[in-house]
Amino acid sequence: MRLILLGPPGAGKGTQAQRLVERYNIPQLSTGDMLRAAVAAKTPVGVKAKAVMDAGELVSDAIVNAIVAERIDQPDCANGFILDGYPRTLPQADAVQAMLAERNQTLDAVVELVVDDKALVGRIVNRAREAQAAGQPVRKDDNPEVFEERLREYYKKTAPLIGYYYAKGMLKGVDGMASIDEVTGAIEATLDAAGAK
Ligand code: AMP
Repeated sequence: MRLILLGPPGAGKGTQAQRLVERYNIPQLSTGDMLRAAVAAKTPVGVKAKAVMDAGELVSDAIVNAIVAERIDQPDCANGFILDGYPRTLPQADAVQAMLAERNQTLDAVVELVVDDKALVGRIVNRAREAQAAGQPVRKDDNPEVFEERLREYYKKTAPLIGYYYAKGMLKGVDGMASIDEVTGAIEATLDAAGAK
């Protein structure tokens, strides 16, 4: 199964992706995680991306498209993958379509986690607090100031993907305000109904 999880920052894409990994036995491809790993390893991509990410802006399409194109050729992606945080712009959506077409692969579904904006900043602040309490590193962009910019970027550049996938008949909206378990159940029901394998 090849799936895209769409939604603003704090919508629960990462949390839900991890659960779907277990259920469908396919990897979660989070471009945010991959970029953070590149930043931590100080690779040329990481060095370029760091300031952009810290400011809550989007890394260039060329960089993320290249990362994803390389990642989906890894053996663990043979049976599918969950794209979490990618695509985030219309050119990225076109790129993923081209990547899949080149590989004779198709997308099964695009799941949009529909959430109330007002709840998002609270979720991000919570995530930072929980990471700190668990002794884990706190993301530099998980604070209310940078979050505002991340949300602006979402509306400007990512929200148009909702119309893009709706027009293709691929968009499945799920209420992201329900409990984590309920959201997982709703996504699974949606995927089952769509006949995703
Ligand atoms: P995330 O972990 O998905 O919230 O991503 C954290 C940050 O990584 C974003 O705010 C962007 O700076 C960058 N990023 C992650 N995915 C993408 C993407 N698909 N396109 C551009 N920038 C991205």
